[in-house]
Amino acid sequence: MRSSEALIEVSDRIGARNYRPLPIVVSKAEGVWVEDPEGNRYMDMLSAYSALNHGHRHPKIIRALKDQADRVTLASRAFHSEALGLFYEKLSAYTGKPKILAMNTGAEAVETAVKAVRRWAYRRKGVAPGEAEVIVCAGNFHGRTITVTSFSSSEEYKRDFGPFTPGFRIVPYGDLAALENAIGPNTAAFLVEPIQGEAGIVIPPAGYLAAAKELCAKHNVLFVADEIQTGFGRSGRRFACDWEGVRPDVLVMGKALGGGVLPISAVAADEEVLGVFEPGSHGSTFGGNPLACAVAVAALEALEEEDLAERSDRLGRYLIDRLKAIRSPYIREVRGRGLFVGVELDRDARPFCERLMERGLLCKETHETTIRFAPPLIISEEELDWAMGRIEDVLGGD
Ligand code: PLP
Repeated sequence: MRSSEALIEVSDRIGARNYRPLPIVVSKAEGVWVEDPEGNRYMDMLSAYSALNHGHRHPKIIRALKDQADRVTLASRAFHSEALGLFYEKLSAYTGKPKILAMNTGAEAVETAVKAVRRWAYRRKGVAPGEAEVIVCAGNFHGRTITVTSFSSSEEYKRDFGPFTPGFRIVPYGDLAALENAIGPNTAAFLVEPIQGEAGIVIPPAGYLAAAKELCAKHNVLFVADEIQTGFGRSGRRFACDWEGVRPDVLVMGKALGGGVLPISAVAADEEVLGVFEPGSHGSTFGGNPLACAVAVAALEALEEEDLAERSDRLGRYLIDRLKAIRSPYIREVRGRGLFVGVELDRDARPFCERLMERGLLCKETHETTIRFAPPLIISEEELDWAMGRIEDVLGGD
């Protein structure tokens, strides 16, 4: 096996430099632990940006993957497949939404939602052709395609990628008055992350989501929740909107839906919205492929069987309490819901992530000054204590 050093050299030389990974090579993984080629073990406190809620190689999900691989992996949507039907049924029951559309990545699911709400605006709401608007929030992160990048408020994400897609309006996150002011006759939808993940685990003011949903209903605007990072137990509830009893009109999902194994994303909504797609209007060669669908069904079953949302809630409270108790000269704020926690420092967070890595704990800064702690939801209390020892060591004073 090649050494970590050699593998990093190859990646740096050949790979496009669109990421800046920590200098660790993952060659094996199980549960909350990963291992490099030299056999060093690390705890994964990032969970692939919440795609690994079930941990690495969850046995039930791997079994479903292997069983399905022995039957059929790809049918294309030119035909029906057994696994797609079972996936629709399972995700519909899990979300309480009657209609589902399957895609692959999160950004594709967001694009799908944007297409759906625009059509809904033209065909159901009566917005004039080409005039539909979608309201989004400052600080949002919904993916990296050109249209999604078009409504980012981050200059870094947009620089020299234009021209951009029109039809979006940005309002401050958590500001209801700004939302109401921005809503006009052409507004199709309000697209929002119930907790902003990439922005640094930003939790909106209490009541914001419920009031925003009400505003949307009052003005005949669709409330679209991007739960790609917050969904499937990450925030301590099935979906982060559940914290305020909000049922979005359109629910966008990805990441952990694939059980940490395969990319699969989906949009869930009522017939009134997803019914706008007729054959030929939208699709994806791999969207809803049998292998990913079988994996997703197992992932959803595991979330329920192991009560991972409840576990995330309970262990998240413990983690947040322990983090708040650290007497640190660097920590400005600890915020989070469930095992979705941001620690805001008064300085660059990257060197702290590097020090944690040296002690066997993997996490990643988001923006410059926030460390995100988001371990797999299957983590045990003992493992969390192990992590806290390292975190106290690195973030505590002297
Ligand atoms: N939406 C949210 C809230 C996300 O956090 C992400 C990824 O981090 C995406 C969308 C994009 O998902 P993907 O990277 O699978 O395209």
